[in-house]
Amino acid sequence: MRITELFKKKTVFSFEVFPPKNDSPVDVIYNTLEELKNLSPDFISVTFSAGGSGNGHLACDVASKIKEYGIIPMIHLPCINYTKSEIDSTLAEIDARGIENILALRGDVNPDIPPKTDFSHASDLVTYLRSKGNYDIAGACYPEVHPDAANAVEDIKNLKIKVESGAEHLISQLFFDNSSFYDFREKATIAGINVPIEAGIMPVVNKKQIERMVTTCGASLPKKFVRIMQKYGDNPDALRDAGIAYAVDQIVDLAANGVDGIHLYTMNKPYVAKRISEAVSGIVGAD
Ligand code: FAD
Repeated sequence: MRITELFKKKTVFSFEVFPPKNDSPVDVIYNTLEELKNLSPDFISVTFSAGGSGNGHLACDVASKIKEYGIIPMIHLPCINYTKSEIDSTLAEIDARGIENILALRGDVNPDIPPKTDFSHASDLVTYLRSKGNYDIAGACYPEVHPDAANAVEDIKNLKIKVESGAEHLISQLFFDNSSFYDFREKATIAGINVPIEAGIMPVVNKKQIERMVTTCGASLPKKFVRIMQKYGDNPDALRDAGIAYAVDQIVDLAANGVDGIHLYTMNKPYVAKRISEAVSGIVGAD
């Protein structure tokens, strides 16, 4: 099923998982999926070599497993480090497994690896995918502006190019301050970007994640969030509960403000996904 159709019926509730790193056993993710499937998300997306993890070759296997469970899979497809013929090989695998939903991405530029030259931006991949088949194509967006963009105006103009190239819905980068999402959504609407935008929500449930968030992701941290992290940072159980509660609070507010969908970065933690899903089951994802 094409994910775009879902937005016409409901506030979509989706999950994101990542394949295991190369040195981890593949079964771990299958156990995770076994638990996530019981939560009946509208779709589950699978990252592809995110953060240069090199696990892209497992993404199709994981997406196939999701399909076997009767859940719609979406596969992420970054392009900056691949040639057209490498993308074609991955597309052949995607087609063979009957996967029709693709999140078209540029991918992060690794300072130690010169990028390939066939695709410069995600919009180039979107155009290419449109020429190759009848895929349901999504793109990424950044409520707090992509770090490479000169400014918010340029970033929105570039996002419009991606949508005009054929991205039918968008999934946002994580954020902790809903007002940044609302400001971005307003700017996008003014720019004529009218496709559904799912809000990316990451429950922060351990100290390592907080440290990573502060150094790499660039998301602004509201006072309320910082206070919670300072208070519970050294108490794993309390931090997990507080992180779940914070994510639930964000989701309820987003739904009340008419969000098109929630994309939960599960970090492959079914327990956390379950607690959040149960807390918002009457609000998002319901038919
Ligand atoms: P683009 O849309 O190409 O944007 C990147 C930058 O280029 C922006 O600053 C933009 O303003 C600018 N730009 C875009 N188009 C143009 C244009 N036509 N002309 C000039 N400038 C332009 N990475 C992975 O490797 N694997 C994953 O599985 C993965 N999953 C992700 C899932 C989500 C929901 C998100 C938000 C990100 C994910 N990423 C993943 C990370 C992503 O690849 C990086 O954030 C990357 O730096 C940008 O990708 P993009 O597709 O948004 O790029």
